[in-house]
Amino acid sequence: HNLSDQTRISLLDNRLANQIAAGEVVERPASVVKELLENSIDAGASRIEVDVERGGARLIRITDNGRGIHKDDMGLALTRHATSKISKTEDLGCIQTLGFRGEALASISAVSRLTLTSRTRDSELAWQASAQGRDMAVDIQPAAASPGTRIEVADLFFNTPARQKFLRTEKTEFNHIEEVFKRQALANFSIAFMLKHNHKIAKRVPACAEPAQYLKRIATICGQQFVDSAIEFKCQHEVVKISGWLGKPSFHRSESDIQYVFINGRPVKDKTLNHAVRQAYEGLLPPGRMATYIIYLNVDASQVDVNVHPTKHEVRFSEQRLVHDLLAKSVSDALSEQVEFVEAIYPE
Ligand code: ADP
Ligand code: MG
Repeated sequence: HNLSDQTRISLLDNRLANQIAAGEVVERPASVVKELLENSIDAGASRIEVDVERGGARLIRITDNGRGIHKDDMGLALTRHATSKISKTEDLGCIQTLGFRGEALASISAVSRLTLTSRTRDSELAWQASAQGRDMAVDIQPAAASPGTRIEVADLFFNTPARQKFLRTEKTEFNHIEEVFKRQALANFSIAFMLKHNHKIAKRVPACAEPAQYLKRIATICGQQFVDSAIEFKCQHEVVKISGWLGKPSFHRSESDIQYVFINGRPVKDKTLNHAVRQAYEGLLPPGRMATYIIYLNVDASQVDVNVHPTKHEVRFSEQRLVHDLLAKSVSDALSEQVEFVEAIYPE
């Protein structure tokens, strides 16, 4: 290399560009499951099956009965910055779907062997697509399948050894997958979900036809002990509707493994919101112990920005402080009503 060679610029080939993008969203097998579940939910599926082998490192397969992908769009589905979910700048201001970046399938496909099989309701045939070579040219073949979409991701990170090195044990990776699965199961009661690991059913929840069945699903996902201790709460403010289940302070955990927050149906890990709940439980739990809760916030889509981070785990509210304070107060009120209730039964 002489100096002039080193300073010339060339465009990255498609696969490499997609692999770089994958670095942001595809950290481990659970990230793949998260993206694919989001796609199935956005496609209006009422049944979703997740099959993984070897903690997802060997295989992740997601099958849904959603609206499917048109044959002529299969190539675009695997192309970066191609999406059916937004089309103009204004759409970014009120996102109604879980996805919108148009990056997941292209990214995952660049770091694995991905096969997409899909059939729309009005098509007699299914079509199967995969991206080949450095330019990721998409090859499409006819296939047999029921309406819906199936995505198979085999040998994740086989061509990105730097990432592969960070894979943990099969058990650890599967635990992360199960966590992602649980979050979506708690966010979508009307969808039937199944999770299999190495051909064995790990979790299965039927669709809930009515709210009376929610607690059964919550027991499957969070355990009967949580359900037995759960206080249901609901409140409505001008900017935000809040509801969910709070574990009584007498039920506490060493880990934060039963702490779920959803905004407009989207599972989030938001520091501000977690802080609000922690504040409400303050002084009610033994030192070092963790509260348990499942909380749903609903705000106008224009009041929340989900385009903050590629993984979409974080959000920003236009009225961050207000939402924080309303959440803290709602939880605190629900918990203290509970305490008064107990005192009323057992007067001193
Ligand atoms: P995004 O979800 O941000 O649009 P993706 O790369 O995840 O980007 O998916 C690209 C497109 O492929 C989606 O916009 C959608 O039209 C289509 N698609 C992906 N998965 C499914 C699915 N399971 N069912 C129907 N369409 C899908
Ligand atoms: Mg997506």
